[in-house]
Amino acid sequence: MQLVVLGSGTSIFHPQRASAGFWLQTDAGSLLLDCSADAPHRMAEENLDWGNLDAIWISHLHLDHCGGLASFLFGLKHAPQTQAREKPLTIFSCAGVEKLLQAIDESHRYKLFELPFPLEITELSAKNAGAPFEILGMKAEVLPTPHRPESLALRLMDKSGATLVYTSDTGDSEKIPSFARAADLLILECSFYRNKPVPTHLDLADAMRIAQLAEPRRLLLTHLYPEWDGIDLESKAKRLWDGETIEARDGLRLEI
Ligand SMILES: [Zn+2]
Ligand SMILES: [Zn+2]
Repeated sequence: MQLVVLGSGTSIFHPQRASAGFWLQTDAGSLLLDCSADAPHRMAEENLDWGNLDAIWISHLHLDHCGGLASFLFGLKHAPQTQAREKPLTIFSCAGVEKLLQAIDESHRYKLFELPFPLEITELSAKNAGAPFEILGMKAEVLPTPHRPESLALRLMDKSGATLVYTSDTGDSEKIPSFARAADLLILECSFYRNKPVPTHLDLADAMRIAQLAEPRRLLLTHLYPEWDGIDLESKAKRLWDGETIEARDGLRLEI
């Protein structure tokens, strides 16, 4: 698998960090992890084949994670790249995405659900925790996270056994380390350097405690608020956990 960081930032506009989005290329197709308003443009900027995107994961309904979904579908509907497309686009998401899209759709009759190709939406909730399902032939599992009532972390394992965990936004939870256990790549939010102002995000001490317990092969810290500007994240992280920590930067590409 290959991961491309589209957006390492948050809801706060930042000159170097777009809001949330990650492109995951697998042998069986491509998956977009969260679709902020910035994500569609960032896919084009990274020369990714967005017209052939196979699946989308939406972790929760904050707009820095799903605000680009309606405009992406609107773009796909009219793009020359998709007029001959036949394969479906599948959205796997937290609860509420279909309702959100319907509300936008009805507000101006965009016909977002009438694409040149089939659109499938599978919503998941806390009830699906512990019940593996499939995304692009990969084994997928979800975990509810203490961020929003609907928010979910995602664990993916491909046929070769390579494992990726994406927490998206989360507060501290004792369930995350076991869910993320020994992942080849753990994409963990680390919104704040220290003294986080809210319990529904992590600061560096929280993130590194999770890393110590989860022992991922590599840790990618993302969802970085502007408070991080000018701070050497990787050296600060090294003092708290001896493993490999990588600061997410827009455009970073990683093999998993
Ligand atoms: Zn966010
Ligand atoms: Zn959020």
